[in-house]
Amino acid sequence: MTLRLTLAHDEWRAHQRALISEVPGTVPVAKGNGYGFGLDMLARESSELGTDTLAVGMAQEVAAVRTAGWQGDVVVLNPWRPGDVAATTLLDDPRVITMISRSEDLEAVSRSHPHARVQLEIETSMHRHGLPPNDLPAELGTLRFEGWSIHLPAKGSLHEATELARRALQCRKGALWLSHLSVADYGVLRTSVDAPTRMRIGTRLWLGAPSALATTADVLDIHRIRRGERLGYHQSRARRDGFIVVASGGTAHGIALGAPVPQRSLRQRAVTIAESVLEATGRTLSPFTIGGRKRPFAEPPHMHSSMLWVAGDEPGVEVGQDIPMTCRMTTTTFDEITLV
Ligand SMILES: *Cc1c(COP(=O)(O)O)cnc(C)c1O
Repeated sequence: MTLRLTLAHDEWRAHQRALISEVPGTVPVAKGNGYGFGLDMLARESSELGTDTLAVGMAQEVAAVRTAGWQGDVVVLNPWRPGDVAATTLLDDPRVITMISRSEDLEAVSRSHPHARVQLEIETSMHRHGLPPNDLPAELGTLRFEGWSIHLPAKGSLHEATELARRALQCRKGALWLSHLSVADYGVLRTSVDAPTRMRIGTRLWLGAPSALATTADVLDIHRIRRGERLGYHQSRARRDGFIVVASGGTAHGIALGAPVPQRSLRQRAVTIAESVLEATGRTLSPFTIGGRKRPFAEPPHMHSSMLWVAGDEPGVEVGQDIPMTCRMTTTTFDEITLV
């Protein structure tokens, strides 16, 4: 009963090494569900890559990468806030770098932990966290300043990065820690500023070689259903003859949680409309493929398995078979990762 990620390990690692050689100063990012691989696996891979620093999302994730053997520095990307006990404890850890994004937090930390290692985050066009770029603090007391953090939107602009870097370095010399610049733009910036540069990469590093990844589910059961018969928790009636195919993978794995996706193209909007029509008829397209086609859910997925609907006289699949499943790697937890 397994939702499985099959990983071509050599190909995956070759991609990481190729990317890192193109992006000097790479800082691997291991956060959340570990991009589908788990934080422990990413911590071990990062140790193999030989980088000196690893970035995690939040204070609570530091222990996981340490337990997995990561010995280098750890940057916590989420900014420190008063009252965050886990983050405050880490201010005493000489191998942890804390992100500061508000002037009042800077004051609080320099009072309570005057020798903490800190990065200062600058507000970008993303407007998530950060100190206003026109009012950056120059005075840091005895804090160990590790550099400036610039977290750009998904397709970060070189112009914005350059302008923020200029303001930051005018205020105080230090390393620039960037996110979401293209490899080419990062190369331009790196050679045009008089400061060390670092590039935090998660998605492109871990998920940048999709051909190395295969995600599959086991078929656990198949049941013949006649038109008009009731089925599932909700006992809805089948409108046609067909089959229920029970596959591993449910809400516990993060399957079909329906997180919104950004919709830029007409095609994406059309897909959403098509899916809504399906939903209006009581069916939602599942991420599972049987016989070369994505199949609808027979009902909303359960904790560990999903009931799929295959109309017709043949289920097109057997119990025990693996079926392809597409998923968002940042929300899926696999039962097993198989290295091939
Ligand atoms: C999550 C995160 C990253 C990595 O983002 P990807 O898109 O996965 O590469 C980089 N920088 C910051 C500040 C982040 O929070």
